[in-house]
Amino acid sequence: MKLYCATGNPGKIREFALADPAIEIEPLANFASLPWVEETGATFEENAILKAVGYGVFADGLLFAEDSGLEVDALGGAPGVYSARFAGPSANDSENNALLIERLRGSENRAARYVCVIALAADGKLVETFRGEVEGRILESPRGHGGFGYDPYFFYPPFGCTFAEVPAERKFDVSHRGEALRKLAAYLSRLS
Ligand code: IMP
Repeated sequence: MKLYCATGNPGKIREFALADPAIEIEPLANFASLPWVEETGATFEENAILKAVGYGVFADGLLFAEDSGLEVDALGGAPGVYSARFAGPSANDSENNALLIERLRGSENRAARYVCVIALAADGKLVETFRGEVEGRILESPRGHGGFGYDPYFFYPPFGCTFAEVPAERKFDVSHRGEALRKLAAYLSRLS
């Protein structure tokens, strides 16, 4: 089964490639040149739906979009839906990470989770949403060079290391994105 995905984030595209081979995931052609869908929602669900519906009209068949981010308890759930633009509208990963560590300086509560919501659309109409979450802690200094975004600071206790220190497949087995995609795959397999 072929599924288009609406994202230009290379880190996400690499992880989607690890999904069940029974579903063939293909980035939406010319994604960068399509009319930009603003992420104006207050929740991951709202943003994922905005993107799935907004980009879905350009796909021939099924398309999914996802919205994901990091929720930090000591920051009241921030950066949340603002994870990609925490340090500003065109912030990069290292600027976002630097701000995160600055905001958490001196905080004993380092609990955090990654959240991912996938919205599935058919011809631009919402079909269903799927949510994944994974709990961890934010370190004071980075460890590892894999993954993307906040991964060098995201310590996952069951592995005893950060998500940037494990192969992508191992992260995918337990990650928010892996969980949401597995729920999507199970839903699709029930349809066929
Ligand atoms: P989105 O494109 O608005 O969904 O932004 C997601 C942002 O959340 C990314 O740019 C990262 O900053 C962060 N994020 C989401 N998932 C991950 C992950 O698996 N590892 C590290 N950072 C992530």
